[in-house]
This record gives sequence, structure tokens and C-alpha cells, in this order.
Amino acid sequence: VEPSPTVPVFTLNAYGCQRRTPLLHHNNVLTDALLVLAENAEFNEDEGRSVAFKRAASVLKALPHTVRGMEELQGLPCLGGHSQRVIKEILEEGKSREVEATLQSQQFQAMKALTGIFGVGVKTADRWFREGLRQPSDVVDTGQKLNHTQEAGIRYYEDLNTPVTRAEADAIGQIVEEAVQAVLPGATITLTGGFRRGKPTGHDVDFLITHPEEGKEENLMPKVVSWLDDRGLLLYQKTTRNSYLEAKDGPARPPHNMDRFERCFSIFRLDRPHRRPEQQPQAGGECQAQVGGTLLGQGSEESRDWKAVRVDLVVTPASQFAFALLGWTGSQLFERELRRWAVHEKHMSLSSHALYDSTQNRYLRGSTEEEIFTHLGLEFVPPSERNA
Ligand code: ATP
Ligand code: MN
Ligand code: MN
Repeated sequence: VEPSPTVPVFTLNAYGCQRRTPLLHHNNVLTDALLVLAENAEFNEDEGRSVAFKRAASVLKALPHTVRGMEELQGLPCLGGHSQRVIKEILEEGKSREVEATLQSQQFQAMKALTGIFGVGVKTADRWFREGLRQPSDVVDTGQKLNHTQEAGIRYYEDLNTPVTRAEADAIGQIVEEAVQAVLPGATITLTGGFRRGKPTGHDVDFLITHPEEGKEENLMPKVVSWLDDRGLLLYQKTTRNSYLEAKDGPARPPHNMDRFERCFSIFRLDRPHRRPEQQPQAGGECQAQVGGTLLGQGSEESRDWKAVRVDLVVTPASQFAFALLGWTGSQLFERELRRWAVHEKHMSLSSHALYDSTQNRYLRGSTEEEIFTHLGLEFVPPSERNA
């Protein structure tokens, strides 16, 4: 990129966690394109390349203006040669041939549709694609062997690929609140994930559950799940117990970015608000006793007065709550950047449980997110600006 004295140079820090990234930004045309390439790299199991495109997109999201010329990119971090070529082509031609070709490709479209099934990862989708499968109905038609998660993923495919609204998230929140209060009075629930960052919709709803008195939260999840299940509110659930204390590889070093909290990946059966109030049944009146749907059919939309919604529940001890909150608020890239910053710039190891300082050989306490940012030598970034 040629230096140009007439263009005011706007600089940004290199790590996503050092920047403020709002939800709404000025460069959607460019970031959408780069994120298609990032997703395609993921489908090809090229994580390095995928992260490189995501970092480039993230830098553009943090800019306070719309990029109109390559000279405006001077001095910006994370914009590799490939990303710059894509940006240049879009600025000059209005679109990128590579992105267009990717969007048109059978592989990309099939991988997108198949990984859109809850419980189906890139490896399974890729195997299916190579066997000639292109869409979820092919999975059913060819009688693929499915685990319970994937069966639920197929059964509720339509609903789970319909964005969850904030109103639906709040309705789920009320149900979870009631369940938690019923089985452990004094416990609290906190909405995390994308909704905490201010997103108007999400692919799921994420909650942290804790109790101010350490230890009271132990084995809470099975009770919450039973309460919900007894009332027919769960279409699917998979509970994993807390494995933090028995971890042999050190609590701050969980495998990948998985944490070890007691958690539940679930699908809620959420009653829809009735669309025609004049036909609304009396309170406590007859509700359609329809359970589940047919495979991929889900029955006709009008006949169902409920929606399947993905919900993640996580139980955390009070002493780890701030770390869990920071770890579950996202965005995924923001989290990744926080951990990278901790390791490479601070010789620390950050997880959703704890922060370990390798220089002092000790864990650092954190009872608020602000304290954790201070330990990391970072300016506090509010959730609404963590949309990296
Ligand atoms: P969306 O609106 O699409 O749901 P999101 O930001 O809420 O977006 P999620 O996939 O729900 O995305 O994840 C929320 C946060 O929780 C992310 O920061 C992610 O890193 C973290 N997270 C998700 N799964 C796990 C896990 N198994 N262990 C630890 N952290 C996780
Ligand atoms: Mn989420
Ligand atoms: Mn989630």
C-alpha cells in the first residue's frame, strides 16, 4: 500500500481484545466477503487461514468509517496479502470473484447446509459431502446413522436455523429463572453470549447459573433439568458434570477452549405467543399436546404453537463467576484474542475458570470482569464492544 500524506491514518491495536468493536459497523460489504472465505477455510479444516480472515474482518469492524480506498488501510494490523487482494477487488469492481465463486460452489453450499444441523461438525459434513449428500433431507433419505444430538438436529432443523429473537431469549430467561429458584432459592441466572453483547438475535441462548454461597451450586444442573423436563419444556438435553477438580492437566489449561463446568446443551420447547389474540385459549386452557415433529417435516407451521430453541446452561461456583462471564460473553474471536494476549504478552493463562500468572506461579483472583482486564493489563472493554 502506497503511503499517502492526504489520508488521515487511523491506527488500531493488533489484538482484538485491545480494540472496541461495536455490533453495528461501517464495513459490512468487506467483512461479509472476508467471513465467507473464513467459513470456507473452516470447511476445509484450515484453521490458520480461517482465523487470518476473521482477524482481518475484525479490524475492519473496528474502523469508525467506511473504507473507500486501499490507502486508508495503511498501518492497520492483521490485513494479510490475501485479505488485501479481496478488499482491493471489492473496492474497485464492487465484488470479489473468489467470494462469488465460493458462494456458488456446491461444496460450500452443502457444507453450510450440513453443518447447519445441530450436532454435525465439519468432519461429518465433509464425509457426507464426499458420499454425495448435499442437504439435510439427503441425510434422512440415505438413512445415515445418527447420534441423539444429530437426530434432534434433523428433527428441529427449521426452527434451529431460524434466529432466536431477544423476546424469545427473555421468555426462556423467565422459565430458567423459575426453574432455578424452585430448586435452589437464592441462585441467580445471567444472560451471556451474543445477547449480552447487544445482538438482537442469536443462534441460541446462553445462561450462567451461580449461587452467592460457594458450594451451594454443586449438582444443581440435574435438578434444574428435571424441573424443566417434568414440565415438558425440554425437547433435548445433554448434561455434562463438572470435571474441573479432577482435571489432571491443570485447571487453567483445559483442552481447546472447552471449559469444565457443569453444563447442559439443550433444546427448549418454547410456546409461541399466540398470533391472533381473539382465538387465544383461556389461561391454562387447552394447549396442543403435540410432541416433537416428524423427521424434517415438523408438521405444518400453523399447526404448531411452539418453537424449538437451542439453550446453553452453565453452572459456575461464585469464585469463578467473573471468569465464566468473561469466557461465555464472546465473541468467539474476542475470547481467542484475550487468551492469545494473555499468553504472548503477559505470560498468563486465561480460561473460563481462572487466570494463572506463570511469572509469579500463582492464580490471580478476579471477582469482576474489570479486575480480570486489569490483571491482563488491558483497558476494560464493555460487552457491547466485544463484537470482534
Ligand atoms: P450466537 O448469537 O450465534 O449464539 P454467541 O456469541 O452467543 O453467538 P455461542 O456459540 O453461543 O456464540 O458462544 C458464546 C460464548 O461461549 C463464546 O464466546 C464461546 O467462546 C463460548 N463457548 C461456547 N461453547 C463453549 C464451551 N463448550 N466451552 C467454553 N466456552 C464456550
Ligand atoms: Mn449464543
Ligand atoms: Mn452457546
